[in-house]
Amino acid sequence: MNTERIYQLIFSFGSAVATALSPTLPYILLCTAAVLADCFTAWQLDKRVRKAYPDKTSRNSGKFKSSHFGSVLVTLLQVYLLLTFAHFLHVYVTESLPFNALKLAAGLVIGWQLWSCLENMSSCNGAKWAMVLQQIMVDKTARHFDIDPAVLEGLTGRRPEHLGDGTGEPMNNGRQRPSAFMATTLKPKQVVILGTAHGSNVPGKCSPDKKFREFRFSRDVITLLKPKLEALGYLVFVDMPADEVPSPQGTELSLRCRYVNGICKKFGKDNCIYVSIHVNAAGSDGQWHDARGFAVYVARSCSAASKRLARTICDLAISRGLRGNRAVPSEHYWQANFYVLRNTACPAVLTENLFQDNRADVEFLSSQAGKEAVATLHLDAIKSFFAE
Ligand SMILES: [Zn+2]
Repeated sequence: MNTERIYQLIFSFGSAVATALSPTLPYILLCTAAVLADCFTAWQLDKRVRKAYPDKTSRNSGKFKSSHFGSVLVTLLQVYLLLTFAHFLHVYVTESLPFNALKLAAGLVIGWQLWSCLENMSSCNGAKWAMVLQQIMVDKTARHFDIDPAVLEGLTGRRPEHLGDGTGEPMNNGRQRPSAFMATTLKPKQVVILGTAHGSNVPGKCSPDKKFREFRFSRDVITLLKPKLEALGYLVFVDMPADEVPSPQGTELSLRCRYVNGICKKFGKDNCIYVSIHVNAAGSDGQWHDARGFAVYVARSCSAASKRLARTICDLAISRGLRGNRAVPSEHYWQANFYVLRNTACPAVLTENLFQDNRADVEFLSSQAGKEAVATLHLDAIKSFFAE
């Protein structure tokens, strides 16, 4: 056989295959577009997650490694094979039936990809329409974290050593350190989620001279408090540790709640508590005021456990001389429908640690002793709450 003849054969064979497969071409194009749309929305989600959780993600996180590109190609190849199979099934087997196997297969692929697109678009998204979709769809946010959700899953019941600092940021590349991991089994189910106050990009929330800032104080206290809680064996998470928070405020607050509720889902809401650490203000006029002292809030229709936690912190604060000069409610907690209290599944309190517009309070809070006092107050109250 000469070369010319071989080319001729290949050409004839190629055209025969192309003719046989040509009816699948429009469907192949549609399905390819759907798969690419899924990739595009996943990429957009990745950007949102990175922005909202800078401490839990890195350039190398979750999706969008080069290995992910390979898996997109594999998906496409599987889709093409399915369409080809469906086409021949229709031509040779199911032709007389009232449905077209090719159209059916293409419809399934496109439906599946569009659903995935909607999941990508609604995850980590504070918009109203996204919140509605979140009720029925999977939240893919955690898939874009550095940490493998499976690692978090396997954690329940064991010491969270390999979780590193408890914010989900893995130490040791997210791998277990066998010695520390296997050696201790302690208080596995007690989870403390600490809430930071506001962010560096939120206006106001500071002393009249602007030297004391609420977001900084809250994060400084949490930096002191977290290792102390972890040393006692609690599993500790921080909802928004980065200085900057997503805006607008609606997005920030709903992301905080979704983070807390995700942890509640994983560990059981009865095993978790949420403590948001703030500083009070008597006015918003930028002036110094007289009001001083500690307060702790729960939502208006909250659980008995929330009330018990709040009362525990309040009583301890009073016993440590932080009562200030204001009336304390007879219940020993205050009630307000703060968003993060109303929309979190576990017992939740918000502490107002003295006043950022009272000179004496600010002087105390700005000192190392003041921060230590607030951190220790929370530590001891949480300890005695879980001990009961
Ligand atoms: Zn605040």
